[in-house]
Amino acid sequence: MPSVTPGIIQGGLEIVTIPCLSDNYAYLVKGPDGVCLIDAPEAGPIIDALEARGWTLGTILITHHHHDHVGGVEELRGRYGCEVMGPEAERDKLPPIDMGLSDGDTGGEGPARTVAIAVPGHTLGHLAYHFPEAGAVFTADSLMALGCGRVFEGTPPMMWESLSKLAALPPETLVCSGHEYTQSNARFALTIEPDNAALVARATEVDAARAAGRPTVPSTLAEELATNPFLRAGLPEMKATLDMQSAADADVFAEIRRRKDNF
Ligand SMILES: [Zn+2]
Repeated sequence: MPSVTPGIIQGGLEIVTIPCLSDNYAYLVKGPDGVCLIDAPEAGPIIDALEARGWTLGTILITHHHHDHVGGVEELRGRYGCEVMGPEAERDKLPPIDMGLSDGDTGGEGPARTVAIAVPGHTLGHLAYHFPEAGAVFTADSLMALGCGRVFEGTPPMMWESLSKLAALPPETLVCSGHEYTQSNARFALTIEPDNAALVARATEVDAARAAGRPTVPSTLAEELATNPFLRAGLPEMKATLDMQSAADADVFAEIRRRKDNF
């Protein structure tokens, strides 16, 4: 077997980050009762990662219906006979799923126990998958490293509520998001909060990681709370920076999202 870089071991799970397509990430999660995959942008790199470790795939958890998150599902199902789960609300837009999941649905046991969290906004049925005992959440195109997904199907207040749910998880939670957009997210974030020292430091770290060819994910929720402008929309200092002192949190979020869409 070729040698492989071990994943992140946290709370009884091993998490392996797999770059796919031009800037997507899929994740393998190995627990005591098997291996699951969060999103399947394309099959090839996922099969390579499984084979290099001698693992077989038991379950695919889909976050949302966009092609760059489901394009590899059928090939992986054909090869491994794995079970495919995804948002019930997007069933008609997904490859065939064996089980539809909604907010609060749970699966697995011990460190592999996952809870689906509805995070509508980017798409209306988008789910995040939280592994509470292992302290990790797979957020795809909802909360991202230093950013958040574009609001395609929902509304800014809906996306703000979704991000607020994720922000309430324990701060040490690992945030495993779906794209390598962090460098451009950092450049944008610095236009909003140029004086945020934690952000300035993180942007330097992100540049160094990318220069070395390393992924900038996962991050921690604590890092996102300190540096991600979209999570900081409710803070008085953010409102003051944007001269929106009396605005509602969701309106501040909407303004930051509008600026990012035009960045
Ligand atoms: Zn998407």
